[in-house]
Amino acid sequence: MISVWSATDLIPQPSCPACSAPAPHRKSAVRIDGLGVKRCPQCALLFLDPVPTDEAIGECYTAEYYSGDSWNRRRIGYTPEWDYHGERERALINGTLLGHSALASLDLRGKSILEIGCSDGALLFSLKQLGPSRLVGLDVNQVALKYGREHFGLDLRHDTLRTANFAPSEFDIVVMIDVLEHIKDVAAFFAEAARCLKPGGVMVIFTPNASALMLTRRRWSYLNRCLEHVCYLSVESLRRLGSPHGIVIERSWSEGYPAMEYPYRTYRIPRLARLLLQPHIALANRVNRLRFDHAEKRGAGVELRVIMRRAAMLPRVDSL
Ligand SMILES: [Zn+2]
Repeated sequence: MISVWSATDLIPQPSCPACSAPAPHRKSAVRIDGLGVKRCPQCALLFLDPVPTDEAIGECYTAEYYSGDSWNRRRIGYTPEWDYHGERERALINGTLLGHSALASLDLRGKSILEIGCSDGALLFSLKQLGPSRLVGLDVNQVALKYGREHFGLDLRHDTLRTANFAPSEFDIVVMIDVLEHIKDVAAFFAEAARCLKPGGVMVIFTPNASALMLTRRRWSYLNRCLEHVCYLSVESLRRLGSPHGIVIERSWSEGYPAMEYPYRTYRIPRLARLLLQPHIALANRVNRLRFDHAEKRGAGVELRVIMRRAAMLPRVDSL
């Protein structure tokens, strides 16, 4: 357990932020910062209770968010040694940038694309060659936006979805890569993203996979990092979020090993010596591997990838 929040940073969250179902919610796990992760029995959303206040959460979104300032180094996982933008540019050149292959599988010709939480805009830039008519990025990190404007020359805006005031049905495709887990009022945020989407349009969502926690419990790797996250979604919770807006899941899959490795007491000795000196650690990790290696195939890989589509004809209000 690490000390991250003070008592005044925390407020109770008695009802589900996605569907408003009241307590009781079952506690599924406890994060390394001591906050309980609860599961809504109605929509399967996992959410924090208590949850940090907006002010406390806001403290982590500094200009240095991606470069590992003092807050982030302990609580999120970005470090000063990590060349975030450089790594994204290398991934851009290699075609391995997060989200690129999912978007490239769609027909982007003539499409208008909004990326919410675009960071430096590298993903949008990677789509330019695929023929979209318009690329717009939103983010709140000025440093990432400045880097993106200088390197990629795109329409990258310092704004939030709530205040951007896009027209209804303005975009063919709305992209949210690692965004929803940061949002406290996730239902209102999703509704606003849905409002911007044309009938027949597509949403591309990447987010930590709540189903991985249900499989791995205390070993889930997200219990130990990214402590600015406030909720965790699954296929089921996204299906419920999309339903009132006529948005359905078209394709979903999961990626990545979901569990934390038990740490060796020292890494500065050869691998064989570690195995000999701490065989119980090696054995525990081996057992975990046997238990969780199949997680991706069961839809419980650590990261969830979902492509959703808005119905071409919106449902009539009286039929809802
Ligand atoms: Zn709920």
